[in-house]
Amino acid sequence: MIIRPAEISNALKKQIKDYTSELSITEVGTVIQVGDGIARVSGLPNAMSGELLEFSCGVYAIALNLDSDSIGAVLMGPDVLVKEGDLVRATGSVAEVPVGDAMIGRMVNALGQPIDNKGDIACNAARTIERPAPGVIQRREIHEPLQTGIRAIDVLVPIGRGQRELIIGDRQTGKTAICIDTIINQKDKDILCVYVAIGQKASTVARIAKILRDTGAMEYTTIVAATASDSASLQYIAPYAGCAIAEKWMDAGRDVLIVYDDLSKHAVAYRALSLLLRRPPGREAYPGDIFYLHSRLLERAACLRAEDGGGSLTALPIIETQEGDISAYISTNVISITDGQIYLETELFNDGIRPAINPGFSVSRVGGAAQIPAIKKIAGPLRIELAQYRELASFVQFGSDLSADTLERLNHGQRIVEILKQPQYRPMPVEKQVLTLYALTNKYLADVPVAQVRKFQYDFLAYVTEYHGDLLDEIRAKKELSSALEQKIIDVIVAFKKSTDKPER
Ligand code: ATP
Ligand code: MG
Repeated sequence: MIIRPAEISNALKKQIKDYTSELSITEVGTVIQVGDGIARVSGLPNAMSGELLEFSCGVYAIALNLDSDSIGAVLMGPDVLVKEGDLVRATGSVAEVPVGDAMIGRMVNALGQPIDNKGDIACNAARTIERPAPGVIQRREIHEPLQTGIRAIDVLVPIGRGQRELIIGDRQTGKTAICIDTIINQKDKDILCVYVAIGQKASTVARIAKILRDTGAMEYTTIVAATASDSASLQYIAPYAGCAIAEKWMDAGRDVLIVYDDLSKHAVAYRALSLLLRRPPGREAYPGDIFYLHSRLLERAACLRAEDGGGSLTALPIIETQEGDISAYISTNVISITDGQIYLETELFNDGIRPAINPGFSVSRVGGAAQIPAIKKIAGPLRIELAQYRELASFVQFGSDLSADTLERLNHGQRIVEILKQPQYRPMPVEKQVLTLYALTNKYLADVPVAQVRKFQYDFLAYVTEYHGDLLDEIRAKKELSSALEQKIIDVIVAFKKSTDKPER
């Protein structure tokens, strides 16, 4: 063996040159108690509120209670792995989720890890799940509609991009259905969607994912799921994680829609954590910061001004009520945070009026700013006529001696109710809404029997699509009803009615 001194000295010199004396200090504490998904840790005096802690078994936790001599942390993994005396390392950062376009079309858990068997997600960016909401200066007023494709909503309680509209109602009243239909309607509209499932059955989430896949909506949708079998801590962070994923796109100037299904279960998960952390219980045993829990989440929805990219984040939170009681603690909180609510009723649902929207209790505090002029023109009278009808209908039950005027109003009201009924998974584009509603408000349906109204509508729209596609294009492009366009619509309606009067033999 030949020893070359030059080679050895070169190697030594290189090592000396590359030597750096980087000192990394990590704080390490120990577990003093663990159970029910909560760990008490001592020896981490510099931990931040919300900081991620790493246990020696590999499980992560979030520090929530910072007491004088210990920390209460909620575990993000199975607590059976954590033992008393285990070492705990403070990571120095708060919880993050991967974000970016690679998330589109995927189903992830509350930590942003894929759960759809489609392999890893190649995201090269991450965001903290909690972020301050955009400030007053960065925002602008809501000015553009977000079409849900549901006639009763687009006409009576329109939703704008950047708005927060609460969907509230008892169990099984079609709350999820409205949000899923809205997501389906965003096809080819350049809007990205995030559906956050909190505390739902895994089978329900699987069913929703299948519907979104089958309708092609998954091409622009991300599902963030923390199911009922996940720990309360994962259910607690799921909406913030979903919001961080959506915010990334909003900051890039995109329009985003996010659905939180539902925040009642989110509040319950947070209550469970708070009680286990021994925070003092308040009304209905919820902790004192339950309002802040939802307000800091929903305030992150915004419509940004052009200087900040002009993106928007529209939020549709869902709340489940008990026996139609909208004055319960969580519902009143969320009603006061949002820009309006869509109230669904079991009675209407069982009467076959679906979507079961109660027009009296449902409001959108953004109003006409979230409608195209054509719909706005038609919607004004419709709302009043519907309200008058409901009032009359409850009144008329007691007598049969009706004036001609009352009868006409009742007849018209019945037709409005019929037209606003809509089956699931069948969102209607806005130009078709304009056509049917124009026929309705201008009394072209007055001679159609009530039972035939819906059939008339579908036949009419099929007729227009087949023979007058240019009219649909024109309404979509102009968004406004000029008198020339109105005349065209009237001509088409009259022509259609004539064609049905004399069926071809
Ligand atoms: P839960 O409280 O269980 O979450 P929910 O309020 O979200 O219920 P959905 O699951 O959306 O209600 O709907 C309940 C049932 O009503 C479903 O079987 C759904 O198919 C049906 N449904 C919802 N909307 C309509 C509609 N417009 N037309 C016909 N059926 C509908
Ligand atoms: Mg539901």
